[in-house]
Amino acid sequence: MALAKGVARVVALILVGLAFVVVGGTIWGVCASAPQVNGVAPNCGPGPAAVIALGILLILVGIGVGVASAYSGPRTIYPTMDPAIPPPLVRPVVVQETIVQQTVEVRCRYCGGLNPVTATKCSSCGAAL
Ligand SMILES: [Zn+2]
Repeated sequence: MALAKGVARVVALILVGLAFVVVGGTIWGVCASAPQVNGVAPNCGPGPAAVIALGILLILVGIGVGVASAYSGPRTIYPTMDPAIPPPLVRPVVVQETIVQQTVEVRCRYCGGLNPVTATKCSSCGAAL
């Protein structure tokens, strides 16, 4: 709904701008087609040019608003959807913790007993590891 309203506002701005340009161009055209005086075109004054400039400005503003709403539109829509759709929960993996806590052991080459890698002597037979 917000996006459609923004598009309507942009279209309205551009249409009003086009109307200003058309009106200004028509006035300018009528003035320029007036009979020349001593070979010099009649002075139309700043009026028509100002109207055309205002129309172009309105069109540019309309385009600018359209571009701005196109970029900011999706960002304004997402927050309204977030409460309805909660993000997926990332659960801590407990299995990995048990693997990390597991001690690395080495097997004694004489008796086959398991000993921690930090041990220098076998806990079963006392042989040097
Ligand atoms: Zn041993």
